[in-house]
This record gives sequence, C-alpha cells and structure tokens, in this order.
Amino acid sequence: MDGTVEGDGVSRTLKRREAENSRDFLLARLAARSQLNRENGCIEWRGHCRPSGYGYLSVNNVAIGVHRLAFQLHKGPIPAGLCVCHHCDNRRCLNPEHLFAGTKSENSLDAVRKGRFPPHPPPRFSGQSHPQAKLSNDDVRVILTALKNGVQGTTLARDFGVTPTQISRIKRGVSRVA
Ligand SMILES: [Zn+2]
Repeated sequence: MDGTVEGDGVSRTLKRREAENSRDFLLARLAARSQLNRENGCIEWRGHCRPSGYGYLSVNNVAIGVHRLAFQLHKGPIPAGLCVCHHCDNRRCLNPEHLFAGTKSENSLDAVRKGRFPPHPPPRFSGQSHPQAKLSNDDVRVILTALKNGVQGTTLARDFGVTPTQISRIKRGVSRVA
C-alpha cells in the first residue's frame, strides 16, 4: 500500500475535523440557527429540539446540547460533574449570560422555586425546523462556508433541518428551495 496516499487521506480528514471544530465556525453555526428574543434577552435556538425542550446540534456526528456548546465556547469547559443550567428557565436559550454550571439538584431546586414542575411540554416549531424549511440567506452563507471548509453535506442537512438534496443544490448554486 502507498503510505503517502493513506497519509493524505488522514490529513484531509483531520483538516475537515479541525474546520468543523473551530470555535468561530461552531459559533457561526449556533448564530445561524438562533434568534434574540428582545422581551427577555434570551438567545433562542430555532434548530432541532428534542422532546425535552433542549436544542441539539451535531458536531462530528455527536449530538450536543446547544446550551452546553454555547457555555463551553464562551466560558470554557464545563466543570466535571456539573450540568449547564439556565437562570432564565428557557431551555432553548443559549445566551451565555443566562447559563451557569450547577449540580443536578441545584438545577432541580431552581426549577421547583420557579414552579417548573411538573415539566410543561416543550415548544414545537412547525416552521423552520420542518424538513422542507426554507433557509435564510445567513443559513446559506454558513452552509457555503462550511462546505468550503470540508464539512459534510449530511451533517449540515441535519443541523439545518433540510434534506441532503437541498444542501447539494446550494452547493451547485441551483436553488436554495426544494
Ligand atoms: Zn435566556
């Protein structure tokens, strides 16, 4: 086997990983799918949410809570054994000013104090998170940059809640609407 070819493949993969993991790029991915709520100052995730109400983004094929990702990007590593909690009690929020690292019981106490128990149903998005959602110009810009940096179309399709076909259309510059 030709070692050089294999080596190139590995370095290409590493380069792609690096691009996917760069702080700026992760921040851009978060920003592209979130929106400031002027009433409460929350920066709310508009992308994929789990039934728990927390938003998720896939990084290297691993789903990570967007509030956890935002905390790490802005405040550094999450201390061992602690979870990322919301002062604002808004699970979709990823405003670093609204996030703190606390224990599970602190989080639950906080929730009880705020009368969050029993948990209310999470918000559902019928618009942008729909598989056939249209993408904003910002989304398209982030997607194009991501593609240029070697991020895979399937990863982006998942993040942006669109089909891989839509991503390849953007890549070819055909159309951004399915
Ligand atoms: Zn908030």
